[in-house]
Parts: sequence; structure tokens; C-alpha cells
Amino acid sequence: MEKIKMTTPIVEMDGDEMTRILWKMIKDHLLTPYIELNTEYYDLGLEHRNETNDQVTVDSANATKKHKVAVKCATITPNAARMDEYTLKEMWKSPNGTIRAILDGTVFRAPIVVKGIEPCVKNWKKPITIARHAYGDVYKGVEMKIPEAGKVELVYTKENGEVEKECIHNFTGSGIVQGMHNVNESIESFAKSCFNYALDVKQDLWFATKDTISKKYDHTFKDIFQEIFEKDFKTKFEEAGIQYFYTLIDDAVARVMKSEGGYIWACKNYDGDVMSDMISSAFGSLAMMTSVLVSPEGYYEYEAAHGTVQRHYYKHLKGEETSTNSVATIFAWTGALRKRGELDNNTELMAFADKLDHATLKTIEDGKMTKDLALITTFENPVVLNSEDFIKEVAKNL
Ligand code: NAD
Repeated sequence: MEKIKMTTPIVEMDGDEMTRILWKMIKDHLLTPYIELNTEYYDLGLEHRNETNDQVTVDSANATKKHKVAVKCATITPNAARMDEYTLKEMWKSPNGTIRAILDGTVFRAPIVVKGIEPCVKNWKKPITIARHAYGDVYKGVEMKIPEAGKVELVYTKENGEVEKECIHNFTGSGIVQGMHNVNESIESFAKSCFNYALDVKQDLWFATKDTISKKYDHTFKDIFQEIFEKDFKTKFEEAGIQYFYTLIDDAVARVMKSEGGYIWACKNYDGDVMSDMISSAFGSLAMMTSVLVSPEGYYEYEAAHGTVQRHYYKHLKGEETSTNSVATIFAWTGALRKRGELDNNTELMAFADKLDHATLKTIEDGKMTKDLALITTFENPVVLNSEDFIKEVAKNL
């Protein structure tokens, strides 16, 4: 059989721990036997990030600007324990944060829906994709504890020295206060990424804030989305047969619960943080969530939403058998291959990505799965496979 050729490389970002082990298995069993895999390889494993003073992360993000498509393995974000474990020179920042800052993108998280793993919400038939605005609000908040009575104000000093003030509260006793911000440029690029992605996957876009209470802050989000929609996307949405729908956040939550899914839900930073965990647990499992970072310029970085599955890795190191779910990592690869195919007009590559998705889902639908899914499946007597045997079973179906 002749292997499928790729004219342009995908940026490959290798990672850490158990997902690094799965990464190699996926390439060996599911990709290289069928594709002349053309990747520009960056090792984002923590050891190599430390050796290169994290330059490799920056290089991989810049390479994504060049080639437009990347696939990333989960990586360790160092904390105090990791400083000792890997004898790090510094507590390097989260690679995802660094890459997101360079690409200025929005993260879209979607559950992988498969027969046998039923969502807790019975009427959810199709995936609900969450788009989280990843800048500002409470995450860049400045806080103060107010120990005793006194006045707290917002003070804006313009560049020409003029001052505008707004009283927040006249405290008569102790309390707390918080200042937060966002910038129009970031909201605009979030809106554009959401509209573009909706067109890309041909799904409706929902957006919600609390603009009735927050008449300036949240209302600005609503206005920016509406302006960009009217100006650049209204006609394209009509042509694609999809809708942009704005509502209040409380109404959105109520509607989401009663919907059958199949749309993108754009969320402000905090809403997205909370709702994405609600959606992933309600759809079954964190191990079945995919994630893609989309920049307003049209760069795409695909990954699994979960981490490096540290506990399984330590078992693996001790020579014990693991049953780690590789589905989201496989889907990260197929997402990247499909997008590469789309951009290069490589129909064979796109068809391969579809077949690999299908083979993966069929394996689960045949009752063969890793332990995490066996614990929640509605199938009776599922066959529990170890990490490698699951991937080999997918290869058989492929
Ligand atoms: P994790 O996602 O690795 O694990 C969380 C829980 O979910 C664990 O109980 C784990 O066993 C289970 N789980 C997750 N994925 C699974 C899979 N594929 N198969 C079976 N079970 C699975 O998150 P964590 O334990 O909080 O973090 C471990 C490491 O991952 C940390 O160093 C963290 O910095 C990193 N992390 C990286 C990313 C990323 O690169 N995108 C995201 C989150 C965490």
C-alpha cells in the first residue's frame, strides 16, 4: 500500500509523562504505517524545555504561525514539586499559556460523543463546544481587603493628566474590593475567532453575558460581538445556514440544559472556566474532550483537554500495566491532519482523518475500551484493554 503524502508539515509538539508514551504508540500504530508523516518536531517535554530555557516553546509557537497547523501532547506545568523532580533552573510557565499569548487565540473544547458513553443530560445528543475568552476579568483582578471604614474609588488618569473618578463604596466597616479589566482588542479577536470557528464547523454560535446588571462592562462584550457580526459575518452566516444567538447568561444556562447540543457556546473567561468542566463531566469524561486553539489569523493548534495523567505514568515506570485513554490524543492528531488536508487540498489526508476517527469510535462501540470508560459505559460486560492494546484494536478497525 502506498502511503499518503503530505506537502506541508504539521508542527508537532511532544510532551510529558503518560501522554508522551501514548504519543509514540499512536504514531507507531496508527499514523506512520499509513502516512508519510511530515512534521516539524519540537520536544516540549519538561527536560528539554529546561535545557533550552523554554525557548523551544516559543519556537514551536512561531513555527505554528509559519505552518498554520500544530498538534500538541499534554505537558507538565511546573509547580514546587516538579522543581525538585526535574531539577529545574526556573519554574517555567505553562506552555499552553505561552503558546496562547503568541498566537492570541481562543480555545474551543468539545466532547467526543460515542454510543455507550451517554451524557448525564439525556437530551444532549450532539457535542456542545465551549469557547472560553482567555484574557482578563477576574483572572487579572486586583484585590484589596478593606480593614475598616473608608471610601473606595475607581480612578482613571488619562495620559493628559485629566482624572475621572467613580465611588465604588463608602465602607462603614471592614470588607473587600476588586478591580478588573478587559481590553477591546482582546474581546474583538475573541469574537472573530468564535465567528470564524462557527463557520468552519458550520454550527450556531451562542454568546451570553450579564449585560442587564453590568451595563458597561458586560454590555461592551455584547456590543463588540454584535458590531463584528453585523459588519463581517452576517452574510457568511446566512450563506452557511447558521445563526448567531445572544442571550443573558442565566437564560443561556437554562436553554443549554434543555437543548440537544450541536452548537458553540462562547463564554467570558470565568463562565468558560466553570462551564467547560460542567460540560466535560456531564458528557462523560475529561479523557474524551478535545481542545483546539484558533487564532484570529487562522492558525490552529489541536490537543487533548486533559493533562499528562501523572498517576498512570508512575505505574508505567514501575513496569505495571496501565489503561490510559488515548481517544482525545488520537482526535487531536486527526483534527490537525484534517485541517492540514483542508488547507492543502489533500483529500486523501482528510479521508484518512475521518477513517481514524471512525475506527476509534467503532472500537468503543464494539465494547472495547480503557478502564476509565469501562467504569461509566452503559454497555454490559465491556472488554477492558490496556493502553497499547486499545490502540492496536483501533489499528485493526482502521
Ligand atoms: P490530568 O488530566 O492528567 O488528570 C486528571 C484526572 O483525570 C486523573 O484522575 C486522571 O487519572 C484522569 N485522566 C485524565 N486523562 C485521562 C486519560 N487520558 N485516561 C485515563 N484517565 C485520565 O490532570 P492533573 O492530574 O491535574 O495533572 C497532571 C499534569 O498534567 C500536571 O503536571 C499538569 O500541569 C498537566 N496538565 C497539562 C495540561 C495540558 O498540557 N493541556 C492540562 C492539564 C494538566
